[in-house]
Amino acid sequence: MTASEMSLTRQAVAELAARIRYHQYRYYALDDPEISDQAFDALFEELRALEAAHPDLRTPDSPTQRVGGAIAARFEKTRHPALMLSLANAFHPGELLAWRDRLRRLLSEAERDRLAYVVEPKFDGLTVVLHYTDGVFSLGATRGDGEFGETITANLRTVRLLPLQIPADRAAGLAAPARLVVRGEVYVEKADFARFNQRQLEAGERAYANPRNFAAGSLRQLDSSITAARPLKLWVYQALIVERGPALSSHWEALAYLRSLGLPVCPDVQRFTDDEFDQVTAYVEAFSARRHDLPYEVDGLVIKVDSLLMQEELGFTGKDPRWALAYKYAAEEAITTLQDIVVNVGRTGAVTPNAVLAPVQVSGVMVKSATLHNEDYIRDLDIRIGDQVVIKRAGEVIPKVLRPLVDARDGSEQVWAMPATCPVCGAPLVRPAGEAATYCVNNACPEQLVRAVEYFVGRDAMDIAGFGIKQAELFVAQGFIHDLADIYQLPWEQIRQLEGYGDKRVENLMAGIEASKDRPIHRLLTALGIRFVGAVVAELITQHFTSLFDLVDATPEQLNAIAGIGPKIAESIVEYFSVASNRALIEEFAALGVRVAADAPAAPADGQSLAGLTFVVTGTLPSFSRDAAHAFIKAHGGKVAGSVSSKTSFVVAGEAAGSKLDKARQLGVPVIDEAALRSMAA
Ligand SMILES: [Zn+2]
Repeated sequence: MTASEMSLTRQAVAELAARIRYHQYRYYALDDPEISDQAFDALFEELRALEAAHPDLRTPDSPTQRVGGAIAARFEKTRHPALMLSLANAFHPGELLAWRDRLRRLLSEAERDRLAYVVEPKFDGLTVVLHYTDGVFSLGATRGDGEFGETITANLRTVRLLPLQIPADRAAGLAAPARLVVRGEVYVEKADFARFNQRQLEAGERAYANPRNFAAGSLRQLDSSITAARPLKLWVYQALIVERGPALSSHWEALAYLRSLGLPVCPDVQRFTDDEFDQVTAYVEAFSARRHDLPYEVDGLVIKVDSLLMQEELGFTGKDPRWALAYKYAAEEAITTLQDIVVNVGRTGAVTPNAVLAPVQVSGVMVKSATLHNEDYIRDLDIRIGDQVVIKRAGEVIPKVLRPLVDARDGSEQVWAMPATCPVCGAPLVRPAGEAATYCVNNACPEQLVRAVEYFVGRDAMDIAGFGIKQAELFVAQGFIHDLADIYQLPWEQIRQLEGYGDKRVENLMAGIEASKDRPIHRLLTALGIRFVGAVVAELITQHFTSLFDLVDATPEQLNAIAGIGPKIAESIVEYFSVASNRALIEEFAALGVRVAADAPAAPADGQSLAGLTFVVTGTLPSFSRDAAHAFIKAHGGKVAGSVSSKTSFVVAGEAAGSKLDKARQLGVPVIDEAALRSMAA
């Protein structure tokens, strides 16, 4: 190689390294990658290959010599007890076999006989290092650059699967090790991720590109209340330090030990002996199909040598441990034609453009539509109707359009523009300054109401069995539902006239609606669909505001004082209840028998006014839910029974009281109403 060729190669290596560093920064520090993981891996492999061919061009600060990303200055740094290494990648089964051959050459014959492997999913989240001191979770950090991580202890404490004490089950009789440091992955389940992004888009907020960015972005919030409101989960997959615990000789044993301490260890882990290595490759292939059915995102498998002693002996090559390999699955992308762009109206009125695609198979699933996020996304990427587009389905339930193939255009493609009016109600669409989302601001837009009802009755909210989007659409279209409270005063006689609404169906629906009246109040609060108030935030709030009547008058200061509630959430709640119709809604719910308070009012200091009396509650009381009435009676010293007998002192009957009322009359037990109960207790 001539001096000038050498100089060109040197320049190429430097440029490639600079590009990789830039993308690492986008990825790790900003959580906002510009290129796909595959494109990044390709750059990295290119640099690695160049450096392998010209080892003298490899500089100590080359990205291939570092373990990971950069550290944002805003969190404290933690030095890891050992380097948190990344793994060498393999993409073909042949590379697995080559890896095994290398291992076998490095090990003695006796060791080869005992060689075994553990295969586990490669989780697509954010790697964390967790420290337990005398059984107490004392420190948690991101992986950072492998040597130093960011201290995110407060945020990690909000991850519910992370035991704050180990053993999680103290009754198991297991002692806590003096010190335990483990490595794990914080991740989000696919369904939670899709739901979160959908809500973000509806609220005009930014959606996350993928589950890993979601995990990273959620854990690196300075306000831990934001983290707390995110549906984060955790898997622990490596014991780094165990002091004064059992002597562990293998990774497999270590996983069992971590599991016994109550740490979440993924059950999808397999052990194979060296003789069974053909099963390892078969497992890797079979898992490729199976992973789509898992609730969490997996981008490959990790294969580790089981013996910890052999791991130590095998050591490292450059930055990678020799004893482990990450097998990565190919990208789940496909190319198809964008036939049209349609807009959907959401619960908050946000109007989302969606791609209508020529059906195409992506990782075993037929895809016909994909999200386009918002107007800017389409404009920035210059996506046109008629384009050949690259779509990706990476665990997100809703696939996304990544980019158009500009070179494939023939000139017939149409530039798309956001419509000026709502496709459902015809009202003008509005895009507030500084927001990416466009809204239909017509409060009477039927589509918004349909979506709001769908959300209200949904699993996360009031969980009304038999009530879904179909019923929401039908009842809104029929004029049965004008606001959320109407769900509890449906005109059943008219509904019985509708096709498909026979007695059985109507009874089930009525029962589902009735059952929802007694849901804990955090569910009702969630169901209102207040911006930023999801299930977790609603629970935090209702621990402090045990009645929604009190919440209606809450000040931003009161809300801000709740751990986990930031100013944005507080402002959103106050804004919501500043609207008269929203305040009225709570009163309507109460009048309709929907529980709006956690419990009955606390008993007075001398509150034994019902002592010695036994009550049976039946029917729907005007302001108490069943549980609230029971709590009220007990708080005043009374007893509650489930059925009426001669020992019953009073039957408290509300509307639609049934057989218990008849029984009371038969036995001559006095029947009172709620008002009488309250005055007896007072
Ligand atoms: Zn509309």
